[in-house]
Amino acid sequence: MASEVEKAQSAAPEEDTIFGKISRGEIPCKFVYEDDTALAFDDLAPQAPVHFLVIPRKPIAQLSKATDEDEALLGHLLTVARKVAVQKGLDADGYRVVINNGKNGAQSVYHLHLHVLGGRQMSWPPG
Ligand code: AMP
Repeated sequence: MASEVEKAQSAAPEEDTIFGKISRGEIPCKFVYEDDTALAFDDLAPQAPVHFLVIPRKPIAQLSKATDEDEALLGHLLTVARKVAVQKGLDADGYRVVINNGKNGAQSVYHLHLHVLGGRQMSWPPG
């Protein structure tokens, strides 16, 4: 099975993505949070005891493709990350928020998403 980094080498922006399908309800997914503009759900391949994703409903392919008009939406995604982290019991000990952007960032799904990871000690620097 290809690692996330291997997948990211061949991944490319596409019109529609699995997260687009999830956001439109075309693929079943249990949301841990949803509103008109954002969704959160657990990562399929968790890299920590708690690992969830926050995505905008708007299909922004990656952070570097966001525009100044997306400023409020980008702030909202962090707000959702903060609230769901509290729900998941991560607040006391902390957690990490990651956005992989493009090939060198090891992005494999070209629909903007925040990873929120917690429940264990993270190391630094990241690989
Ligand atoms: P990235 O490498 O930053 O693009 O991360 C993509 C993430 O999406 C990976 O952590 C995958 O495990 C996760 N993922 C892919 N498909 C699904 C899915 N259907 N439901 C939840 N997470 C998914």
